[in-house]
Amino acid sequence: MYYCLNEEYLLRGWEKLQTGIVRKGTGQTFFLQPSFYSKIRTMRGLMFEGSPFLTPEEHEYMSQLVKEGIVYLSETAVPYTPEQEYRLYPNRYLRMIHWAITGHCNCRCRHCYMSAPTGKIPEYSTEKCMEIIDQMEAAGVQMVSLTGGEALVRRDFIKLITRLTEAGIKINTIMSNGLLVNEELLDALDELGQKPEFNMSFDGIGRHDWLRGVDGVEEAVIRAFKLCRDRGFPTGAEYCLHRGNMDVFRESVKLLGELGCRSLKVNTLKAEGEGTGIVEYTIPLKEEYQFYMDYLPQYFEDGEPVDLMLSGMFMKTQKGEYIIPAAKLPEDKDCSDYCLCGHARNVMHITADGYIVPCIPIGSVENGRNHFPNIHDTTIGEALHDSSYMEFINTRLSTYFEHNPECAVCEYRNRCAGGCRGTAASSGDLLGKDERDCELFLGGWFDKVLAFLEDRVGVKAGEKDS
Ligand code: SF4
Ligand code: SF4
Ligand code: SF4
Repeated sequence: MYYCLNEEYLLRGWEKLQTGIVRKGTGQTFFLQPSFYSKIRTMRGLMFEGSPFLTPEEHEYMSQLVKEGIVYLSETAVPYTPEQEYRLYPNRYLRMIHWAITGHCNCRCRHCYMSAPTGKIPEYSTEKCMEIIDQMEAAGVQMVSLTGGEALVRRDFIKLITRLTEAGIKINTIMSNGLLVNEELLDALDELGQKPEFNMSFDGIGRHDWLRGVDGVEEAVIRAFKLCRDRGFPTGAEYCLHRGNMDVFRESVKLLGELGCRSLKVNTLKAEGEGTGIVEYTIPLKEEYQFYMDYLPQYFEDGEPVDLMLSGMFMKTQKGEYIIPAAKLPEDKDCSDYCLCGHARNVMHITADGYIVPCIPIGSVENGRNHFPNIHDTTIGEALHDSSYMEFINTRLSTYFEHNPECAVCEYRNRCAGGCRGTAASSGDLLGKDERDCELFLGGWFDKVLAFLEDRVGVKAGEKDS
């Protein structure tokens, strides 16, 4: 019997990670040991069960791949299809791109950081979008999440998702205000074999329309949640907490649970872009953290209606783990050589005005995005080589500590690891301290939430490795 690679799996490699197996169109990639991988690469369907070229460990591993359906046993040798043959991308590995395909929108949100309702940022042409998708394909990008502005206002939206599908790129998420989520769109996605999560803003029962600046958006987004639930499309939500919707938060979370929404991310109103016009609705940091502490017992009493992320303070993950996202690294290790932003290593965000940045929070702040290259002057592949983007990705914690000596001697230096660069950038310095995380740790909130979790759910808050 011969070991044959299932047709869904493709052999792919990237600079520094050359031993990948990709499951076509799913965004799933895993990497094998180089020696074993080179045997799989060269066997081309001709390796047989019991082959002396495999070590006993490799035989065992091969049986595991058979169990997982990645490799199957056949009486005849099955050579790789041209699509399965090894392909090496000339850049580092990138798992996902959050791509803002437009700066335009059909809402008039009072807090929109990019002032989308005024159309301040021009929309990319269809040709430019196609060129960007070509660049993604050439760089071996496996997944995208589409955002805006409002991604669905693009007249060529179906054309773009069709081309992404042809390029073998999974559409993981569509971030939307829900107004244009309809049967026709879901039919088109179904036809393409794409099942993205619709991540939609929900800013409070009876309060949503006020923030969105258009009447009827609350009703429309509730309809969109129901439609997605009925059609089997997963949904997630974002809640922008402000003075005017704190009182309906608990009921709103319950409603989202009833609507089948699986996760909710809560952030507070920021005085960025249009938000500068409603600063009286912003919530001081201490009050925000106290609000989360007060809400947490209610969350458990209500049966955890959705997976929840309360800023950096608390998160219940899809796997059912409870973590404190702001707690990054273990305190008992020397982490100086760890990357300043571990999460940013495999993802990228392209802003509506073309900046190639590590993540959405950095892209939403002018002092953040202006440090990075622009898709109008470079390509994704080039940005993944020698660029200010890569310089940031490779920045180590030691550089941060040199820049912030008080953090170098702080008792939370590793757990906090300087916090989030997006938040730091809004105060003007990409390498500065994140005052939100500083308050979380030095203000005693971290200890409080950790004690609560230990007591309530009997688990220690997890730590994210970088
Ligand atoms: S839905 Fe999003 S992009 Fe549109 S105006 Fe509101 S915040 Fe801006
Ligand atoms: S808690 Fe404050 S001082 Fe300590 S490492 Fe974090 S940002 Fe620096
Ligand atoms: S800057 Fe903040 S949001 Fe962006 S990847 Fe780093 S920690 Fe995450």
